Amino acid sequence: MTGPHPGPSSASSTGSPSRSSSRSSSEPLHVAVVGSGPAGFYAADALLASEAPQVRVDMIERLPTPWGLVRSGVAPDHPKIKSVADTFEQIAAHPAFRWYGHVALGTDVTREELKEVYDAVVYAIGAQTDRHLGVPGEQLAGCVAATDVVGWYNGHPHFHDVEVGLHGERAVVVGNGNVALDVARMLCTDVAELNRTDIADHALAVLSASAVREVLVVGRRGPAQATFTTLELRELGALGGVDVSVQPAGVLDIPEDGLAPAVRRNLAALRVLAATPPTGTPGARRLVFRFWRSPIALEASDAGSVARVVLAVNEPEVAPDGRIVARDTGQREVVDAGLVVRAVGYLGVPVAGLPFDAAAGHIPHEQGRVEGGDREYVVGWIKRGPTGVIGTNKKDARESVARLLADLGAAGPRDPRPDRPVRLEAWLRERQPALVTDEGWHAIDEVERAAGVVQGRPRVKLVHTDDLLAAARRADGSWGS
Ligand SMILES: Cc1cc2nc3c(=O)[nH]c(=O)nc-3n(C[C@H](O)[C@H](O)[C@H](O)COP(=O)(O)OP(=O)(O)OC[C@H]3O[C@@H](n4cnc5c(N)ncnc54)[C@H](O)[C@@H]3O)c2cc1C
Repeated sequence: MTGPHPGPSSASSTGSPSRSSSRSSSEPLHVAVVGSGPAGFYAADALLASEAPQVRVDMIERLPTPWGLVRSGVAPDHPKIKSVADTFEQIAAHPAFRWYGHVALGTDVTREELKEVYDAVVYAIGAQTDRHLGVPGEQLAGCVAATDVVGWYNGHPHFHDVEVGLHGERAVVVGNGNVALDVARMLCTDVAELNRTDIADHALAVLSASAVREVLVVGRRGPAQATFTTLELRELGALGGVDVSVQPAGVLDIPEDGLAPAVRRNLAALRVLAATPPTGTPGARRLVFRFWRSPIALEASDAGSVARVVLAVNEPEVAPDGRIVARDTGQREVVDAGLVVRAVGYLGVPVAGLPFDAAAGHIPHEQGRVEGGDREYVVGWIKRGPTGVIGTNKKDARESVARLLADLGAAGPRDPRPDRPVRLEAWLRERQPALVTDEGWHAIDEVERAAGVVQGRPRVKLVHTDDLLAAARRADGSWGS
């Protein structure tokens, strides 16, 4: 086969499912879900629960491994949160579900092809890049994106060679959300603790030799505007061998009237941290919150890498829309730092041919149906931008799937032939001969877990695509040696 059709199709590609479908068919709809993070799995779950019409799901993932940010975003020292992957595995066990890894939309298959061979396409591709600071010096070695650092310590195969320079005594993490806290915590945590997690071995080696003694978490606004969750803040109080420092002024003196309950809980957690005396542990690392500060320039060392961060000191100002914004006072602070991590937001990337809101970094939609799309739907971070915890994606996926089923429900499959699943897999394999099936992923999983047993860790991750494919090949032997 050379074309996108998995064999000659009885259905035309008219752009309207009702026009091209066969209403009398008892065959199920075939839906492609692109991306296998939480949103993709929750969408698959909702689709598979549909009885009329019945739906088969093929999930297409660019990596040889599933679970999206649950594998490559959630911090290694949060194993309980990562255990949501058990739910995804239960969803994957459904007989009408198939997972295909190492197949990238845009490289191996196009949007047009997917639309042609499936009855509908659900994009669950997350937010694959990040926002920049937009300050001079940002391009210097030693200034890295949180997306890269997070991928690096989590063994994402695209980030195994990121240079995370931990030679200086101070690191600055710019951002006031949970990702910033995760990164700061990972830079401070004792490696003996991390050694029990599924952190990538290369990251463990670099962190073991870290010279960093202090990590500044810098936010352009104050604690009441930060987007930390309270649990993440409270957790800092229990970090062994780490002194957490919060400037009491600006935390303790905020009037609470009219503040949301979540903000009040955060302020309470910060007050507890502010009132906690230093651990007294010799050599304890310090995690320091610096609110109302914006980096305005990064300065280089003689060697050309980051050496200093120039911070503007801000003060609160009420914007015309009532929001509290940061106003530069003109005052400056300069701090030495060998590493600057920007954690100011993940950002979605466009899908060729689909509309894209570049400012918000998501695909515009109506209840999950892509604006101007053709049987195309979005879920998760590419639908609503990089906000919300894992569970948020469940409700959000249900909305999109309800829209999809309402749109397609009366239509039969575009191709009602019973051997359609076989032909779809053959087409995908033709597009990507090194396709990883669910069996291939389980072979990877087994190798990683077995290596983990030996070291008393949940798993030891394979971090190179070649190694992942080689492990998968033990199960997916059909595409050669
Ligand atoms: C650093 C970090 C830590 C977090 N920690 C927590 C936490 O502790 N608790 C919590 O509840 N939430 C946490 N979250 C939030 C949670 O991870 C997200 O809500 C969730 O992962 C979003 O799901 P998603 O499926 O939209 O995106 P993702 O999880 O990013 O999944 C997208 C998937 O699509 C794939 N993909 C992308 N492009 C393509 C393509 N072209 N072709 C094929 N596949 C593609 C990706 O490889 C990926 O597998 C964290 C987020 C981050 C960034």
